[in-house]
Amino acid sequence: MIGLISATSAGQRGCEHLAAAWPDEVRVYDRPVREAVGRAFAECEQLVCFLATGAVVRMVAPLLRGKDTDPGIVTVDETHQHAIALLGGHRGGANELAQRVADVLGCRPVVSTATDAAGVPGLDMLGWPVEGAVAAVSRAILDGDPVRLDTPHGVHPLPALPPNVTATTDSDVSLIVTDRVTSADVAAATVLLRPPSLVVGVGGSRGVPVDEVLTLIGEALADAALSPRSVAALATVDAKADEVGIVEAAERLGVPLLTFGADRLAGIDVPNPSDAPLAAVGTPSVAEAAALAAAPGGELLVPKRKSAPARGAAMATAAVARRRPRGRLAVVGLGPGARDLLTPRAREELRRASVIVGLDQYVDQIRDLLRPGTRILESGLGAEEERARTAVEQARAGHAVALIGSGDAGVYAMASPALAEAADDIDVVGVPGVTAALAAAAILGAPLGHDHVSISLSDLHTPWDVIERRVRAAAESDLIVTFYNPRSRGRDWQLPKALSLLAEHREPGTPVGVVHAASRPDERSEVTTIAALDVTTVDMVTVVTVGNTATRNVAGRMVTPRGYRWQA
Ligand code: SAH
Repeated sequence: MIGLISATSAGQRGCEHLAAAWPDEVRVYDRPVREAVGRAFAECEQLVCFLATGAVVRMVAPLLRGKDTDPGIVTVDETHQHAIALLGGHRGGANELAQRVADVLGCRPVVSTATDAAGVPGLDMLGWPVEGAVAAVSRAILDGDPVRLDTPHGVHPLPALPPNVTATTDSDVSLIVTDRVTSADVAAATVLLRPPSLVVGVGGSRGVPVDEVLTLIGEALADAALSPRSVAALATVDAKADEVGIVEAAERLGVPLLTFGADRLAGIDVPNPSDAPLAAVGTPSVAEAAALAAAPGGELLVPKRKSAPARGAAMATAAVARRRPRGRLAVVGLGPGARDLLTPRAREELRRASVIVGLDQYVDQIRDLLRPGTRILESGLGAEEERARTAVEQARAGHAVALIGSGDAGVYAMASPALAEAADDIDVVGVPGVTAALAAAAILGAPLGHDHVSISLSDLHTPWDVIERRVRAAAESDLIVTFYNPRSRGRDWQLPKALSLLAEHREPGTPVGVVHAASRPDERSEVTTIAALDVTTVDMVTVVTVGNTATRNVAGRMVTPRGYRWQA
């Protein structure tokens, strides 16, 4: 809930504005102001105060408890020029709230936490626990000093890191991604980032107390110098899914409890099988097998150990496995060429990647956006399948891979061959890009205002008779058609042939848009007609959009009516 507080009528109008914009999120507090702030501070996760910053500072100062619990507070000045993130910028969400308030009121967000102001994520915002010299390392990151990235147990694809944090850097300031408790913990300028890499398999006899389970887990981790903050899950056999001591242990650790069938566990090779669990639950191993089942392809770091139960009866077993780093494959569309048609999300994925796979000319398009140290696997035209396979292999090895393509990477491009190779052992994200047909349409006017289709005229991968059948179908059904790969030195008859098929159902004067190098420095475009098109102006960096029977040339722009009755 967001508490809204105001003192003046201008402030009240601001409150009403926000309440109208976010009806389900806000609660308006009535005056007197001091009581209102006190109550909102206790009841809400966030506050927007239409009050002077100084006044709010004095009122909340005695209420402050700590970063983890205090609400995020934004103040807005009397004339609604600034939305100031005053308190709880990161964890309280005040930086983001200031931006939201600014969007609604049309004012400027004022953010003073260093990492946000510099556009790099705070170390505490990466989503993984951090330990060590957070302030010193944050300062180095902000100052642009080199920071060494160390990932001793594989890469566990990281959140986006600033460009000065790289594996190749030689520096005393370092960021270590590890589940190990090491002597580096105490080194001066080191931050340890705890990846969610460990799974603890647990077993227990009926009635095993939660404290016994937790003590055992704690000892197992400590003896192997593993950090409890890297535990991602507990795992056990289905039969123990409701064993209170185990369920509660997972709850207290704040991790999920994963359970597996006895059959499945019985099939896993473990170092220490025994007869007792086989008789009780039908598998010779619970702790070791469950840990390995929850960490496919991973390694067993701590073999089974048993608790020392207080009074004999109930006891627990535990084993720890390390998950194989799960790779990430981002399939990223770069847009048609212009930098400002590359989406912010694409930019983010490129920054996050430790490996880039793509055609050399596309890599050139975005090289400056990559972090130094990013491995670039570029290749020339052709070799698509090999490129796809490389991208998937790299992701499977645990890297954060960006497979790039111009326009949208899924349109006549790498997404399909790559995903055809990928199994469910990697994470895949797609980032859409502005495809050539859309970039061209925006230049031509509004040619795609009604049903339309894209057809590639390249008969390298598709037999010509299939292409021809589709062109005929588009012709008959009066679809607007955008031709990709329309013409190259070796393929010069396909475009005239396709146009002649369309001309069987459309007037010779039907508008045709030709766009070469949309959004690039050598962009060229022309609106002509089926009859007048000079195909020699068309090359492989061109798309050709043919209108339907309703498309018109209006003031030199191509316009296809939406087909509403009022336009007829
Ligand atoms: N994935 C790309 C298309 C790859 S097929 C996309 O979504 O845009 C390659 C064809 O796309 C080229 O032959 C050309 O027809 C078209 N194309 C790509 N970029 C273009 C641009 N900037 N201007 C015009 N056509 C372009």
